[in-house]
Amino acid sequence: MRVAIIGAGPAGLFLGGALAGRGHDVIAVDRDTRPPAGHWPRPGVMQFHHAHAFRPQVGRALGREWPAALDAWLARGAEPITFDVPGMGVVPAGHRSRRDTFERALRATADTVPGLTVAQGHVDGVISSAGRVRGIVVDGSPVEADLVVDASGRSGRSVDALRAPASAGGPCGMAYVDRQYRLHDGAEPGPMSNQLAWQGDFDGYQVLVFLHEQGHFSVVLVRPTADPALKDLRHQTAFEAVCRAIPGLAAWTDPERAAPVTDVLPGGPLYNTYRGQRGRDGRPCIPGLVSVGDAVATTTPIFGRGVATTFLQVQQLVALLGSVTDPGLVGEPFGDWCEATMRPWVVDHVDMDGDSVRRWEGGDVDLTRRLPSDLIMAAAERDPAIGPALGGYISMLQLPSCLDPVEPLARRVYESGWRPAFTSGPTRAELREIVAGALRESPEPAQAGRSSGT
Ligand SMILES: Cc1cc2nc3c(=O)[nH]c(=O)nc-3n(C[C@H](O)[C@H](O)[C@H](O)COP(=O)(O)OP(=O)(O)OC[C@H]3O[C@@H](n4cnc5c(N)ncnc54)[C@H](O)[C@@H]3O)c2cc1C
Repeated sequence: MRVAIIGAGPAGLFLGGALAGRGHDVIAVDRDTRPPAGHWPRPGVMQFHHAHAFRPQVGRALGREWPAALDAWLARGAEPITFDVPGMGVVPAGHRSRRDTFERALRATADTVPGLTVAQGHVDGVISSAGRVRGIVVDGSPVEADLVVDASGRSGRSVDALRAPASAGGPCGMAYVDRQYRLHDGAEPGPMSNQLAWQGDFDGYQVLVFLHEQGHFSVVLVRPTADPALKDLRHQTAFEAVCRAIPGLAAWTDPERAAPVTDVLPGGPLYNTYRGQRGRDGRPCIPGLVSVGDAVATTTPIFGRGVATTFLQVQQLVALLGSVTDPGLVGEPFGDWCEATMRPWVVDHVDMDGDSVRRWEGGDVDLTRRLPSDLIMAAAERDPAIGPALGGYISMLQLPSCLDPVEPLARRVYESGWRPAFTSGPTRAELREIVAGALRESPEPAQAGRSSGT
Protein backbone atom coordinates (compact mmCIF):
# COMPACT_ATOMS: atom_id res chain seq x y z
CA MET A 1 0.00 0.00 0.00
CA ARG A 2 1.24 3.54 -0.78
CA VAL A 3 0.70 5.84 2.20
CA ALA A 4 1.17 9.62 2.16
CA ILE A 5 1.38 11.25 5.58
CA ILE A 6 0.85 14.99 6.08
CA GLY A 7 3.31 15.95 8.82
CA ALA A 8 6.45 14.36 10.26
CA GLY A 9 5.95 15.17 13.94
CA PRO A 10 5.61 12.36 16.53
CA ALA A 11 2.43 11.00 14.88
CA GLY A 12 3.74 11.07 11.31
CA LEU A 13 7.15 9.61 12.15
CA PHE A 14 5.88 6.86 14.45
CA LEU A 15 3.16 5.83 12.01
CA GLY A 16 5.62 6.00 9.11
CA GLY A 17 8.13 3.81 10.95
CA ALA A 18 5.46 1.26 11.94
CA LEU A 19 3.85 1.02 8.47
CA ALA A 20 7.13 0.89 6.57
CA GLY A 21 8.22 -1.86 8.99
CA ARG A 22 5.17 -3.83 7.76
CA GLY A 23 6.26 -3.49 4.16
CA HIS A 24 4.21 -0.47 3.08
CA ASP A 25 5.58 2.28 0.88
CA VAL A 26 5.39 5.46 2.98
CA ILE A 27 6.16 9.12 2.40
CA ALA A 28 5.81 11.63 5.25
CA VAL A 29 5.94 15.28 4.18
CA ASP A 30 6.69 18.12 6.58
CA ARG A 31 7.00 21.82 5.88
CA ASP A 32 9.76 22.23 8.49
CA THR A 33 13.43 21.55 7.79
CA ARG A 34 15.12 18.37 8.93
CA PRO A 35 17.15 18.71 12.15
CA PRO A 36 20.39 20.64 11.75
CA ALA A 37 23.36 20.16 14.10
CA GLY A 38 22.50 23.20 16.24
CA HIS A 39 19.22 24.93 17.05
CA TRP A 40 16.26 23.32 15.21
CA PRO A 41 13.70 25.99 14.40
CA ARG A 42 10.31 24.32 14.17
CA PRO A 43 7.75 26.95 13.15
CA GLY A 44 5.29 24.15 12.23
CA VAL A 45 5.03 23.11 15.91
CA MET A 46 4.69 26.11 18.21
CA GLN A 47 5.22 23.99 21.33
CA PHE A 48 8.37 22.30 20.03
CA HIS A 49 10.80 24.10 22.37
CA HIS A 50 8.37 24.18 25.28
CA ALA A 51 8.29 21.79 28.23
CA HIS A 52 7.41 18.16 27.49
CA ALA A 53 7.15 15.13 29.74
CA PHE A 54 6.81 11.66 28.24
CA ARG A 55 4.40 9.15 29.72
CA PRO A 56 5.19 5.40 29.76
CA GLN A 57 2.83 4.76 26.83
CA VAL A 58 5.37 6.51 24.60
CA GLY A 59 8.39 4.32 25.39
CA ARG A 60 6.19 1.22 25.54
CA ALA A 61 4.72 1.88 22.09
CA LEU A 62 8.16 2.52 20.60
CA GLY A 63 9.54 -0.63 22.23
CA ARG A 64 6.78 -2.70 20.62
CA GLU A 65 6.55 -1.09 17.21
CA TRP A 66 9.82 0.63 16.56
CA PRO A 67 12.55 -0.52 19.01
CA ALA A 68 15.33 1.11 16.98
CA ALA A 69 13.75 4.53 17.67
CA LEU A 70 13.54 3.76 21.40
CA ASP A 71 17.21 2.74 21.40
CA ALA A 72 18.12 5.96 19.57
CA TRP A 73 16.16 8.03 22.12
CA LEU A 74 17.91 6.33 25.04
CA ALA A 75 21.28 6.75 23.31
CA ARG A 76 20.60 10.50 23.14
CA GLY A 77 20.13 10.58 26.90
CA ALA A 78 16.40 9.95 27.58
CA GLU A 79 16.07 8.79 31.19
CA PRO A 80 13.47 6.10 32.11
CA ILE A 81 11.76 6.73 35.47
CA THR A 82 9.30 4.95 37.80
CA PHE A 83 6.36 6.10 39.97
CA ASP A 84 4.91 4.63 43.12
CA VAL A 85 1.21 4.77 42.15
CA PRO A 86 -1.47 4.30 44.86
CA GLY A 87 -2.96 0.85 44.47
CA MET A 88 -0.44 -0.20 41.78
CA GLY A 89 2.98 -0.08 43.44
CA VAL A 90 6.16 0.89 41.56
CA VAL A 91 5.46 1.13 37.81
CA PRO A 92 7.29 2.57 34.76
CA ALA A 93 6.43 6.26 34.61
CA GLY A 94 7.87 7.45 31.33
CA HIS A 95 11.03 9.23 30.27
CA ARG A 96 12.73 12.49 31.10
CA SER A 97 13.57 14.14 27.81
CA ARG A 98 13.30 17.35 25.92
CA ARG A 99 10.99 17.26 22.91
CA ASP A 100 13.95 18.20 20.71
CA THR A 101 15.89 15.15 21.92
CA PHE A 102 12.89 12.88 21.35
CA GLU A 103 12.12 14.07 17.86
CA ARG A 104 15.73 14.05 16.70
CA ALA A 105 15.87 10.37 17.73
CA LEU A 106 12.73 9.56 15.72
CA ARG A 107 13.95 11.53 12.70
CA ALA A 108 17.40 9.93 12.69
CA THR A 109 15.84 6.47 12.94
CA ALA A 110 13.30 7.25 10.21
CA ASP A 111 16.18 7.95 7.84
CA THR A 112 17.33 4.33 8.24
CA VAL A 113 13.97 2.63 7.61
CA PRO A 114 13.62 1.02 4.15
CA GLY A 115 10.36 2.07 2.51
CA LEU A 116 10.01 5.29 4.55
CA THR A 117 10.80 8.67 2.98
CA VAL A 118 10.65 11.88 5.01
CA ALA A 119 10.45 14.80 2.58
CA GLN A 120 10.35 18.54 3.12
CA GLY A 121 7.48 20.41 1.49
CA HIS A 122 4.17 22.10 2.12
CA VAL A 123 1.08 19.96 1.63
CA ASP A 124 -1.33 22.32 -0.11
CA GLY A 125 -4.26 19.91 -0.10
CA VAL A 126 -5.41 16.50 -1.28
CA ILE A 127 -6.23 14.97 -4.67
CA SER A 128 -9.75 13.54 -4.80
CA SER A 129 -11.80 11.77 -7.42
CA ALA A 130 -15.05 9.78 -7.37
CA GLY A 131 -15.64 10.67 -3.71
CA ARG A 132 -12.30 9.36 -2.49
CA VAL A 133 -9.00 10.96 -1.51
CA ARG A 134 -6.24 9.61 -3.76
CA GLY A 135 -3.14 11.55 -2.83
CA ILE A 136 -1.70 14.88 -1.72
CA VAL A 137 -0.43 17.99 -3.44
CA VAL A 138 3.06 18.98 -2.27
CA ASP A 139 4.21 22.44 -3.32
CA GLY A 140 1.94 22.18 -6.36
CA SER A 141 2.97 18.64 -7.40
CA PRO A 142 0.74 15.57 -6.99
CA VAL A 143 1.81 12.55 -4.92
CA GLU A 144 -0.57 9.62 -5.39
CA ALA A 145 -1.43 7.29 -2.51
CA ASP A 146 -3.86 4.53 -1.53
CA LEU A 147 -4.27 6.14 1.89
CA VAL A 148 -3.63 9.72 3.03
CA VAL A 149 -2.99 10.26 6.74
CA ASP A 150 -3.52 13.68 8.25
CA ALA A 151 -0.89 13.90 11.02
CA SER A 152 -0.66 17.67 10.73
CA GLY A 153 -1.13 18.45 14.42
CA ARG A 154 -3.27 20.99 16.19
CA SER A 155 -2.62 23.74 13.68
CA GLY A 156 -2.74 21.76 10.42
CA ARG A 157 -5.25 23.12 7.94
CA SER A 158 -4.63 21.19 4.71
CA VAL A 159 -7.73 18.93 4.96
CA ASP A 160 -10.06 21.44 6.63
CA ALA A 161 -12.25 21.59 3.56
CA LEU A 162 -13.10 17.88 3.97
CA ARG A 163 -13.19 17.33 7.75
CA ALA A 164 -16.12 18.21 9.98
CA PRO A 165 -15.13 20.83 12.57
CA ALA A 166 -14.17 19.97 16.15
CA SER A 167 -17.06 18.54 18.16
CA ALA A 168 -15.69 19.30 21.64
CA GLY A 169 -13.45 21.81 23.35
CA GLY A 170 -11.79 25.06 22.35
CA PRO A 171 -9.56 27.55 24.19
CA CYS A 172 -9.52 26.65 27.88
CA GLY A 173 -8.79 30.09 29.32
CA MET A 174 -5.17 29.36 30.24
CA ALA A 175 -1.93 30.61 28.72
CA TYR A 176 1.64 29.83 29.68
CA VAL A 177 5.21 30.99 29.47
CA ASP A 178 8.29 28.89 30.14
CA ARG A 179 12.06 28.75 30.07
CA GLN A 180 14.61 25.96 29.95
CA TYR A 181 17.50 25.68 32.41
CA ARG A 182 20.22 23.17 33.14
CA LEU A 183 21.50 22.05 36.53
CA HIS A 184 25.19 22.67 37.10
CA ASP A 185 27.32 19.51 37.07
CA GLY A 186 26.73 17.63 40.31
CA ALA A 187 23.86 19.92 41.46
CA GLU A 188 20.79 18.21 42.95
CA PRO A 189 17.33 18.96 41.51
CA GLY A 190 15.04 21.35 43.41
CA PRO A 191 11.77 20.22 45.03
CA MET A 192 9.90 17.46 43.18
CA SER A 193 6.25 16.32 43.50
CA ASN A 194 7.22 13.08 41.78
CA GLN A 195 10.12 11.68 39.69
CA LEU A 196 9.16 13.85 36.73
CA ALA A 197 7.90 17.18 37.92
CA TRP A 198 7.24 19.72 40.63
CA GLN A 199 3.76 21.20 40.69
CA GLY A 200 2.76 24.29 42.62
CA ASP A 201 -0.93 25.25 42.87
CA PHE A 202 -1.14 28.87 43.91
CA ASP A 203 -3.95 31.32 44.53
CA GLY A 204 -4.85 32.17 40.93
CA TYR A 205 -2.18 30.39 38.87
CA GLN A 206 -0.07 27.25 38.54
CA VAL A 207 3.64 26.49 38.26
CA LEU A 208 5.19 23.35 36.84
CA VAL A 209 8.82 22.29 36.66
CA PHE A 210 9.48 19.40 34.28
CA LEU A 211 12.82 17.65 34.70
CA HIS A 212 14.23 16.52 31.35
CA GLU A 213 17.33 14.50 30.55
CA GLN A 214 20.86 15.23 31.70
CA GLY A 215 19.90 17.97 34.15
CA HIS A 216 17.82 20.02 31.72
CA PHE A 217 14.54 21.29 33.15
CA SER A 218 11.72 23.65 32.17
CA VAL A 219 9.98 26.17 34.40
CA VAL A 220 6.37 26.69 33.26
CA LEU A 221 4.06 29.45 34.56
CA VAL A 222 0.36 28.92 33.73
CA ARG A 223 -2.03 31.86 34.10
CA PRO A 224 -5.57 32.75 33.11
CA THR A 225 -5.74 34.44 29.70
CA ALA A 226 -8.20 36.86 31.33
CA ASP A 227 -5.28 38.43 33.26
CA PRO A 228 -3.48 40.43 30.57
CA ALA A 229 -1.04 42.04 33.04
CA LEU A 230 0.69 38.68 33.34
CA LYS A 231 1.49 38.67 29.63
CA ASP A 232 4.51 40.66 30.77
CA LEU A 233 5.96 37.46 32.21
CA ARG A 234 7.48 37.05 28.77
CA HIS A 235 10.05 39.70 29.71
CA GLN A 236 13.17 38.19 31.20
CA THR A 237 13.39 40.61 34.13
CA ALA A 238 9.76 39.91 35.08
CA PHE A 239 10.15 36.13 34.68
CA GLU A 240 13.29 36.11 36.79
CA ALA A 241 11.73 38.29 39.50
CA VAL A 242 8.81 35.86 39.75
CA CYS A 243 11.17 32.89 39.93
CA ARG A 244 12.92 34.56 42.86
CA ALA A 245 9.59 35.32 44.61
CA ILE A 246 8.12 31.79 44.49
CA PRO A 247 10.03 29.69 47.04
CA GLY A 248 9.95 26.42 45.03
CA LEU A 249 11.14 28.19 41.87
CA ALA A 250 13.76 30.17 43.77
CA ALA A 251 15.27 26.83 44.78
CA TRP A 252 15.21 25.46 41.22
CA THR A 253 16.54 28.56 39.49
CA ASP A 254 19.13 29.59 42.09
CA PRO A 255 22.22 30.60 40.02
CA GLU A 256 24.25 28.40 42.38
CA ARG A 257 22.19 25.42 41.20
CA ALA A 258 21.30 26.06 37.54
CA ALA A 259 21.63 28.38 34.57
CA PRO A 260 19.12 29.23 31.82
CA VAL A 261 19.82 27.68 28.41
CA THR A 262 17.03 29.48 26.51
CA ASP A 263 15.37 32.85 26.48
CA VAL A 264 11.97 33.12 28.11
CA LEU A 265 9.64 31.33 25.68
CA PRO A 266 6.18 32.88 25.51
CA GLY A 267 3.48 30.32 24.74
CA GLY A 268 0.01 31.01 23.51
CA PRO A 269 -3.44 30.23 24.83
CA LEU A 270 -3.98 26.54 25.58
CA TYR A 271 -6.60 24.37 23.89
CA ASN A 272 -8.51 21.17 24.44
CA THR A 273 -10.04 19.99 21.18
CA TYR A 274 -11.59 16.80 19.87
CA ARG A 275 -12.11 16.40 16.15
CA GLY A 276 -13.35 13.02 14.90
CA GLN A 277 -13.09 11.38 11.49
CA ARG A 278 -16.40 12.62 10.10
CA GLY A 279 -16.56 14.44 6.80
CA ARG A 280 -18.22 17.80 6.28
CA ASP A 281 -20.81 15.87 4.26
CA GLY A 282 -21.86 14.01 7.43
CA ARG A 283 -20.36 10.63 6.48
CA PRO A 284 -18.64 8.78 9.38
CA CYS A 285 -15.28 8.96 7.57
CA ILE A 286 -13.69 10.46 4.48
CA PRO A 287 -12.80 7.59 2.11
CA GLY A 288 -9.05 7.52 1.49
CA LEU A 289 -8.25 9.82 4.43
CA VAL A 290 -7.71 9.30 8.14
CA SER A 291 -6.55 11.78 10.81
CA VAL A 292 -4.32 10.91 13.77
CA GLY A 293 -2.50 12.52 16.70
CA ASP A 294 -3.15 16.10 17.76
CA ALA A 295 -5.20 16.49 14.60
CA VAL A 296 -7.78 14.37 16.50
CA ALA A 297 -7.25 14.99 20.22
CA THR A 298 -5.46 18.01 21.67
CA THR A 299 -5.13 18.38 25.43
CA THR A 300 -3.43 21.05 27.52
CA PRO A 301 0.05 20.10 28.74
CA ILE A 302 -0.93 20.22 32.44
CA PHE A 303 -0.88 16.40 32.63
CA GLY A 304 1.54 15.78 29.72
CA ARG A 305 -0.84 13.53 27.78
CA GLY A 306 -0.50 14.60 24.13
CA VAL A 307 2.28 12.33 22.88
CA ALA A 308 0.80 9.39 24.81
CA THR A 309 -2.66 9.84 23.25
CA THR A 310 -0.95 10.32 19.88
CA PHE A 311 1.00 7.06 20.18
CA LEU A 312 -2.01 5.11 21.43
CA GLN A 313 -3.87 6.31 18.35
CA VAL A 314 -1.05 5.28 16.03
CA GLN A 315 -0.94 1.80 17.55
CA GLN A 316 -4.69 1.40 17.11
CA LEU A 317 -4.59 2.69 13.55
CA VAL A 318 -1.78 0.29 12.61
CA ALA A 319 -3.71 -2.62 14.15
CA LEU A 320 -6.89 -1.68 12.24
CA LEU A 321 -5.00 -1.30 8.97
CA GLY A 322 -3.85 -4.88 9.43
CA SER A 323 -7.41 -6.15 9.65
CA VAL A 324 -9.71 -4.02 7.44
CA THR A 325 -10.47 -5.11 3.87
CA ASP A 326 -10.41 -1.55 2.45
CA PRO A 327 -7.69 0.59 4.12
CA GLY A 328 -9.30 3.68 2.61
CA LEU A 329 -12.29 3.18 4.91
CA VAL A 330 -10.23 2.68 8.08
CA GLY A 331 -11.42 6.08 9.30
CA GLU A 332 -14.78 4.62 10.28
CA PRO A 333 -13.68 1.97 12.82
CA PHE A 334 -10.80 4.23 13.89
CA GLY A 335 -13.28 7.05 14.46
CA ASP A 336 -15.43 4.78 16.65
CA TRP A 337 -12.37 3.89 18.71
CA CYS A 338 -11.33 7.56 19.03
CA GLU A 339 -14.85 8.52 20.19
CA ALA A 340 -14.72 5.83 22.88
CA THR A 341 -11.13 6.21 24.09
CA MET A 342 -9.76 9.65 23.08
CA ARG A 343 -12.76 11.95 23.39
CA PRO A 344 -13.13 11.19 27.13
CA TRP A 345 -9.63 12.57 27.81
CA VAL A 346 -10.43 15.80 25.98
CA VAL A 347 -13.76 16.15 27.80
CA ASP A 348 -11.99 15.45 31.11
CA HIS A 349 -9.55 18.30 30.37
CA VAL A 350 -12.32 20.65 29.26
CA ASP A 351 -14.07 20.12 32.62
CA MET A 352 -10.92 20.24 34.70
CA ASP A 353 -9.11 23.15 33.06
CA GLY A 354 -12.25 25.28 32.75
CA ASP A 355 -13.05 24.75 36.41
CA SER A 356 -9.44 25.55 37.45
CA VAL A 357 -9.70 28.89 35.65
CA ARG A 358 -13.05 29.56 37.37
CA ARG A 359 -11.49 28.82 40.76
CA TRP A 360 -8.42 30.93 39.90
CA GLU A 361 -10.87 33.80 39.50
CA GLY A 362 -12.13 33.26 43.05
CA GLY A 363 -14.87 30.65 42.50
CA ASP A 364 -15.42 27.97 45.14
CA VAL A 365 -15.63 24.21 44.51
CA ASP A 366 -18.87 23.71 42.55
CA LEU A 367 -20.90 20.99 44.24
CA THR A 368 -23.81 21.29 41.81
CA ARG A 369 -22.01 19.19 39.17
CA ARG A 370 -19.57 16.25 38.92
CA LEU A 371 -16.29 17.24 40.52
CA PRO A 372 -13.43 17.62 38.03
CA SER A 373 -10.79 14.89 38.20
CA ASP A 374 -8.09 17.03 39.82
CA LEU A 375 -10.39 17.81 42.76
CA ILE A 376 -11.28 14.13 43.15
CA MET A 377 -7.56 13.32 43.30
CA ALA A 378 -6.85 16.14 45.77
CA ALA A 379 -9.55 14.86 48.14
CA ALA A 380 -7.60 11.60 48.58
CA GLU A 381 -5.47 13.57 51.05
CA ARG A 382 -8.52 13.64 53.36
CA ASP A 383 -10.19 10.34 52.53
CA PRO A 384 -7.72 7.49 51.94
CA ALA A 385 -10.54 5.33 50.50
CA ILE A 386 -10.25 7.45 47.32
CA GLY A 387 -6.56 6.60 46.75
CA PRO A 388 -6.82 3.09 45.27
CA ALA A 389 -9.09 4.35 42.48
CA LEU A 390 -6.57 6.94 41.29
CA GLY A 391 -3.94 4.63 39.77
CA GLY A 392 -5.89 3.79 36.61
CA TYR A 393 -6.56 7.47 35.94
CA ILE A 394 -3.07 8.76 36.71
CA SER A 395 -1.46 6.06 34.56
CA MET A 396 -4.07 6.45 31.78
CA LEU A 397 -4.59 2.68 31.86
CA GLN A 398 -8.27 3.40 32.50
CA LEU A 399 -10.54 6.16 31.21
CA PRO A 400 -11.45 9.17 33.39
CA SER A 401 -14.77 7.48 34.23
CA CYS A 402 -12.77 5.15 36.54
CA LEU A 403 -12.99 8.02 39.05
CA ASP A 404 -16.81 8.01 39.02
CA PRO A 405 -17.16 5.44 41.85
CA VAL A 406 -15.11 7.61 44.26
CA GLU A 407 -16.57 10.97 43.20
CA PRO A 408 -19.25 10.75 45.94
CA LEU A 409 -16.48 10.22 48.52
CA ALA A 410 -14.66 13.31 47.27
CA ARG A 411 -17.92 15.25 47.26
CA ARG A 412 -18.41 14.44 50.94
CA VAL A 413 -14.90 15.76 51.65
CA TYR A 414 -15.74 19.11 50.00
CA GLU A 415 -19.19 19.23 51.60
CA SER A 416 -17.41 19.12 54.95
CA GLY A 417 -15.79 22.45 54.02
CA TRP A 418 -12.25 21.14 53.37
CA ARG A 419 -10.34 22.72 50.47
CA PRO A 420 -6.87 21.87 49.07
CA ALA A 421 -4.21 24.17 50.52
CA PHE A 422 -2.38 26.55 48.16
CA THR A 423 1.34 26.07 47.68
CA SER A 424 3.31 28.64 49.63
CA GLY A 425 4.03 31.69 47.47
CA PRO A 426 2.56 34.94 46.15
CA THR A 427 -1.08 35.26 45.13
CA ARG A 428 -1.80 36.26 41.54
CA ALA A 429 -2.46 39.84 42.64
CA GLU A 430 0.99 39.86 44.28
CA LEU A 431 2.47 38.31 41.16
CA ARG A 432 1.15 41.23 39.11
CA GLU A 433 2.88 43.62 41.51
CA ILE A 434 6.16 41.70 41.21
CA VAL A 435 5.96 41.76 37.41
CA ALA A 436 5.11 45.46 37.27
CA GLY A 437 7.84 46.30 39.79
CA ALA A 438 10.48 44.35 37.85
CA LEU A 439 9.58 46.12 34.61
CA ARG A 440 9.58 49.55 36.31
CA GLU A 441 13.09 48.92 37.57
CA SER A 442 14.37 47.44 34.34
CA PRO A 443 12.12 47.97 31.31
CA GLU A 444 13.07 45.86 28.31
CA PRO A 445 11.70 45.27 24.83
CA ALA A 446 9.76 42.09 24.02
CA GLN A 447 12.06 39.19 23.25
CA ALA A 448 12.08 36.94 20.26
CA GLY A 449 11.75 33.98 22.64
CA ARG A 450 14.28 31.77 20.90
CA SER A 451 16.18 28.84 22.29
CA SER A 452 19.83 29.75 22.75
CA GLY A 453 21.08 26.18 22.65
CA THR A 454 20.01 22.65 21.76
C1 LIG B 1 2.79 23.94 25.42
C2 LIG B 1 2.60 22.48 25.15
C3 LIG B 1 3.25 21.56 25.94
C4 LIG B 1 3.05 20.20 25.74
N1 LIG B 1 3.61 19.33 26.61
C5 LIG B 1 3.40 18.02 26.46
C6 LIG B 1 3.94 17.09 27.37
O1 LIG B 1 4.53 17.45 28.38
N2 LIG B 1 3.76 15.77 27.13
C7 LIG B 1 3.05 15.31 26.07
O2 LIG B 1 2.92 14.09 25.89
N3 LIG B 1 2.50 16.18 25.19
C8 LIG B 1 2.65 17.50 25.36
N4 LIG B 1 2.10 18.38 24.49
C9 LIG B 1 1.36 17.85 23.33
C10 LIG B 1 2.30 17.39 22.22
O3 LIG B 1 3.17 18.45 21.87
C11 LIG B 1 1.47 16.94 21.03
O4 LIG B 1 0.59 15.95 21.48
C12 LIG B 1 2.30 16.40 19.86
O5 LIG B 1 3.05 17.41 19.24
C13 LIG B 1 1.38 15.77 18.81
O6 LIG B 1 2.14 15.29 17.73
P1 LIG B 1 1.57 15.33 16.24
O7 LIG B 1 2.59 14.66 15.40
O8 LIG B 1 0.17 14.87 16.20
O9 LIG B 1 1.49 16.87 15.85
P2 LIG B 1 2.72 18.01 15.70
O10 LIG B 1 3.74 17.68 16.67
O11 LIG B 1 2.00 19.27 15.75
O12 LIG B 1 3.26 17.69 14.25
C14 LIG B 1 2.53 18.05 13.11
C15 LIG B 1 3.50 18.25 11.96
O13 LIG B 1 2.76 18.50 10.78
C16 LIG B 1 3.43 19.48 10.02
N5 LIG B 1 2.46 20.10 9.12
C17 LIG B 1 1.28 20.68 9.45
N6 LIG B 1 0.64 21.12 8.33
C18 LIG B 1 1.44 20.80 7.29
C19 LIG B 1 1.33 21.00 5.89
N7 LIG B 1 0.25 21.58 5.33
N8 LIG B 1 2.34 20.55 5.11
C20 LIG B 1 3.43 19.94 5.64
N9 LIG B 1 3.58 19.74 6.96
C21 LIG B 1 2.60 20.15 7.78
C22 LIG B 1 4.02 20.42 11.05
O14 LIG B 1 5.13 21.12 10.54
C23 LIG B 1 4.42 19.44 12.16
O15 LIG B 1 5.75 19.00 12.02
C24 LIG B 1 2.23 19.75 24.69
C25 LIG B 1 1.59 20.68 23.88
C26 LIG B 1 1.74 22.04 24.13
C27 LIG B 1 0.98 23.02 23.30
